[in-house]
Amino acid sequence: MNRYHSLLCAVNLNEGSQTVVEAAVQLASANNIHLVHVCEHPITGYGESTGNNHQVTEAQIKQHVFPQLSALAEMASIQTSNTEILFGEPVEMIRQAAKHHCCDLIVIGSHGRQGLQRLLGSTASSMLHGTPCDVLTIHLH
Ligand code: AMP
Repeated sequence: MNRYHSLLCAVNLNEGSQTVVEAAVQLASANNIHLVHVCEHPITGYGESTGNNHQVTEAQIKQHVFPQLSALAEMASIQTSNTEILFGEPVEMIRQAAKHHCCDLIVIGSHGRQGLQRLLGSTASSMLHGTPCDVLTIHLH
């Protein structure tokens, strides 16, 4: 029997994402894993030289990101309906998604840079404070 009933796996789609997903599937059945990626809000603006509107829509961003997220989901036999592309600040959106899906564990990657972040990475260290469920950080090289 799995210790966790509903797990949220957050991936930034960098090279460590596969490692994070592989860890998640060790801890819960694929049906109970929600795989999410958080994007920055679309950038809007007018090109100085062209005067054209260079607005990038959420739909365009999703179209670009979806194949990458789907490939990870497929590798782990996670249904597409359990994948989500969200917009906003990653830590906040990951927390909201975990609450929405009543997750009892969040799985994210971690690799160090400097200070406490040298040990955990900025998203990982922020997730540890104020997240009302277990957080598992997977060490990435
Ligand atoms: P970082 O602190 O940026 O090295 O990220 C650590 C971990 O947080 C990543 O390995 C992901 O698991 C998660 N993460 C960071 N940014 C995002 C994002 N935009 N969407 C989903 N998960 C993310």
